[in-house]
Amino acid sequence: MSALAELYKEIAVCRQCEIAKYRTKVVPGEGSENAEILFIGEAPGFHEDQQGRPFVGPAGQFLDKLLASIGLKRQQVYIANVIKCRPPNNREPLPGEIQNCSKFLEKQIELIHPKMIVTLGRYSMARFFPGKSISKIHGTGQKQNGVVYFAMYHPAAALHQQSLRETIAADMLKIPSYLVETKEVPEETIQPPQSEQLKMF
Ligand code: URA
Repeated sequence: MSALAELYKEIAVCRQCEIAKYRTKVVPGEGSENAEILFIGEAPGFHEDQQGRPFVGPAGQFLDKLLASIGLKRQQVYIANVIKCRPPNNREPLPGEIQNCSKFLEKQIELIHPKMIVTLGRYSMARFFPGKSISKIHGTGQKQNGVVYFAMYHPAAALHQQSLRETIAADMLKIPSYLVETKEVPEETIQPPQSEQLKMF
């Protein structure tokens, strides 16, 4: 069994947070173990909780279109979330839930070893770009220890705010150039995504 499959088994039996009581299925993440790009969203919603798969509802359909705009299918990337269980009524993840689940996300990053991590939305961004504002840094990438971190608005934001749709689509189109130039993108001063940073939660 692959190391990722082992991890999925571990996630499936995790009951560390109260919200585990209400989940239908855990949503560990899916995609290629050899993905160059790892997309990290926030938390499963209704459809994801039903199916045990990330981004399969309306936001996921938009994400699929965004991926297609750069010639990718979801099977070629990896898609995960900051937390693996659906918060009741789709409320925002709590700091303790993010903290409890961070070990799983860290392990996924270690196993997939992507060249680029794309954060979708504020919660995912906060982990890698602490203290930054999404309205300022969306569509920009910064390199840290050989990995490019690229911040985007959450695809669901386009469903609530039509004007963001074009912004998100334009940001997505920048991804290939960051990927090609992973060697050339200068190392910046972002804080490393290490446990130090997670203490903020
Ligand atoms: N929103 C997320 O952040 N993740 C999902 O998997 C679905 C919707």
